[in-house]
Amino acid sequence: MIIQSVRGMSDILPEQAGAWRYLEQTAQRIFSSYGLTQIRTPVVEDTELFARSIGDVTDIVEKEMYTFEDRSGDSLTLRPELTAGVVRAAIEHGLLHNQTQRLWYQGQAFRHERPQKGRYRQFHQIGVECFGIADALMDAELIEMTDQMWKELGIRDAVTLQLNSIGSPEARANYRTALVDFLVARKDQLDQDSLIRLKRSPLRILDSKNESTQALLCDAPSLMDYLTEADREHFAQLTRALTDADVAFVINPLLVRGLDYYGRTVFEWTTEALGSQGTICGGGRYDGLVDHLGGKSTPGVGFALGVERVVLLMKALEVIPDIYQTQADVYLMSQQIACEERIRKLARRLRQDFPALRVMTHIGGGSLKSQLKKADKSGALIGLIIGQSELASGQIVYKPLRGGEQETLSEMGLLNRMSKLRDM
Ligand code: ATP
Ligand code: MG
Repeated sequence: MIIQSVRGMSDILPEQAGAWRYLEQTAQRIFSSYGLTQIRTPVVEDTELFARSIGDVTDIVEKEMYTFEDRSGDSLTLRPELTAGVVRAAIEHGLLHNQTQRLWYQGQAFRHERPQKGRYRQFHQIGVECFGIADALMDAELIEMTDQMWKELGIRDAVTLQLNSIGSPEARANYRTALVDFLVARKDQLDQDSLIRLKRSPLRILDSKNESTQALLCDAPSLMDYLTEADREHFAQLTRALTDADVAFVINPLLVRGLDYYGRTVFEWTTEALGSQGTICGGGRYDGLVDHLGGKSTPGVGFALGVERVVLLMKALEVIPDIYQTQADVYLMSQQIACEERIRKLARRLRQDFPALRVMTHIGGGSLKSQLKKADKSGALIGLIIGQSELASGQIVYKPLRGGEQETLSEMGLLNRMSKLRDM
């Protein structure tokens, strides 16, 4: 019997890995240009960490976590998101003592959901967390950074920024009373999940995916009307900064996000192009979380993007550059065993002179025709061939593989040509 991968946990095969690398490299370059540094935390954490940070009455903690007892009898959980672990690490290692932190991460997350397009049991997030800065300009800069990322990836036209403020704990407490009054009066129209939440976590109902509940909520009181003066000023500062930065947004008063730790700013980037798994990135402010997890009260703001969903969107829009979808730039072939040594020498020279050039040598002989087939499959733009006569003359056959005339060049001529190839 052949053993297969676990349901909902995919292999990323070489053919797809280029798109992933394109996203990761673009994100990392942008993160570094904003002065962020990386943090890496374990895939497994104490179960209590997630129960306390994400909230007991959330989809994630109620039904989606991979929780198990290890051999010592400790309850452990595969991380369903990375923020909790980052906050734990920051507290544990004193990263928040009299200093601010701007951190980025990437890695797997695990949720036991029904697998479908854009929704998996192992998936990957790339995210950012900033600590110690309460100013709305930090929220704005992070959102601007995501906007820049979509632009550079070529997907900006297909996504929309949804923005909301869910206010301070005080505002939410007042709003909660008004929302409960509204919903209790319409109790017979609520779905089963929402009825349960009505008692334990009524704001979560705003996040409901049930259509009739969503319709009911159109007339519900709006959280925006319950914000404190300071909440309002924070939100106004954020929207002003986004407007200054030319970042278009839509205010969505129903946006609350699926985790309990958020307060004030919440945002999501959504697309119509991926069906119901349309949220590619979500984030917000979590000023209470560090304190809640036992650290000294420290403001925080961050976001996470779903790598699989961004990759799906990039594929749908066909924006992945060729260089991330091919193996080689040049492919070296020889017609005779006697030419092998010169081929290897030339490859060595090219790799040394042009470190970014992708140089593949044909190994294993065969007809020139079959070698050219392999060259084509590698995606190379140029084939370099050394045969009997080139061996004697010291020259190289330069064969454009995507249209253009074949030429015979000296080694010097070839090196010149290669420096131009990389500028293309
Ligand atoms: P959804 O509403 O689609 O379930 P979420 O609100 O649970 O998303 P977050 O907890 O905000 O998601 O996680 C951040 C991002 O991670 C999401 O915007 C999404 O792109 C991605 N994501 C979340 N769950 C999954 C999953 N099961 N498979 C793939 N990507 C996911
Ligand atoms: Mg979810």
